[in-house]
Amino acid sequence: MKNYICNECGGEFSKNQLDPELLTDGESFCKECASSLMEAGRDFVDPNHNFNSYEDWDENGR
Ligand SMILES: [Zn+2]
Repeated sequence: MKNYICNECGGEFSKNQLDPELLTDGESFCKECASSLMEAGRDFVDPNHNFNSYEDWDENGR
C-alpha cells in the first residue's frame, strides 16, 4: 500500500489517514494537520468566528 508524506508534519500516512478534500487538490495533509490548518485559516479570515463554516463565509462574507 502506498504511503503519503504529510506536507505539514512530514509523517507517513496511509490514504485513509489523510484529509480527502485536500488530497483531491493534490495536497497531502494528515487529518490532524488539515484540521489545525483549517483552524488557522478560519482565525485568519474570521477572527471573531462570526460565521459557522466556510460555506457560510462564502455565502455571507463577500
Ligand atoms: Zn501531518
